[in-house]
Amino acid sequence: MGKGTVNRVPEVTKRLGFAGSALIIAGQKSCEIAAQKVRNLLEQTGMNVEVLLVETAAMKDILAVENRIKAWKPRLVFAVGGGTKIDVAKLASARQGIPFISVPTTVSHDGIAGPFASVKGFEKPYSVLAQAPLAIIADTDIIAQAPWRSVISGCGDVISKLTSVKDWRLAHMEKNEYYGEYAASLALMSAKLVIQNAEKFRQGNEEGLRVLLEALISCGVAMSIAGSSRPCSGAEHLFSHALDMINGSHAMHGEQCGVGAIMMAYLHGSNWKRIRETLKQINAPTTASELGIEDEEAVKACEIAATIRPERYTILHKLKLDREACENVARATGIIG
Ligand SMILES: [Zn+2]
Repeated sequence: MGKGTVNRVPEVTKRLGFAGSALIIAGQKSCEIAAQKVRNLLEQTGMNVEVLLVETAAMKDILAVENRIKAWKPRLVFAVGGGTKIDVAKLASARQGIPFISVPTTVSHDGIAGPFASVKGFEKPYSVLAQAPLAIIADTDIIAQAPWRSVISGCGDVISKLTSVKDWRLAHMEKNEYYGEYAASLALMSAKLVIQNAEKFRQGNEEGLRVLLEALISCGVAMSIAGSSRPCSGAEHLFSHALDMINGSHAMHGEQCGVGAIMMAYLHGSNWKRIRETLKQINAPTTASELGIEDEEAVKACEIAATIRPERYTILHKLKLDREACENVARATGIIG
């Protein structure tokens, strides 16, 4: 990762032993920014390269990419873009048994490095196991061009590991679920580093982007070690998934998880104010209205969150809050007025 690292795509590709053909998955926007550049660089080394544009991460997009892989048989897939394109490339390449390299153009969530993909209309409303990228080539010059809001979302996603790790430990203590100290520590450290460096997350500060990228990649590694999304996805993520179901997607994933983490930290009896203060400091949403949703919807999301994934034991599964209790939590933490 760093400035201008996209120029090292051919070198990394060669070092990993690939030649021949490559399929690039990109969106219209990321295509203009980076995918063309990746294509040109690879073609200069004599590789055959095709670009396939995708705009959504629905089952039809996965199948379209899979069909292209079956027909054309590229040696590997490049995902050039934000979360959606990476998710599509990750799952389609995994299902077709070929590797993929991640070239993120935004830093909105930990999917840029982890083995999980979230796809609409695919089994569950949360992420499914795909594969981790063989390499991640993150060019901060390109990432700096993405809307600033995606950086805020990425920070929210990382900070929310404070509660996902707490939920994992809870499941270990009370349900004897497997718990990996190393994976948990890695996720926790990422959250702490983002909080400690909060003042660096301002536009034009490359160091902030690097801190966030390292944190997101560490979260991806934590999930790979754990073999599940456990270290990085607890009740605060269930809250975010519930919001997606109730009200489309009004805010970004990491923004919703951040707000969820405030409430779940409160329920865990941990330092929820610190989470809220950090989110405020980086201009991330800390209330329902800042997420663009009704107070009602935030309460409802809290109420139904545990039902989305009954098998994933969290503080919400333990406490079994009713509507009124959810409303009280949301009010006590300032999520609703
Ligand atoms: Zn997340």
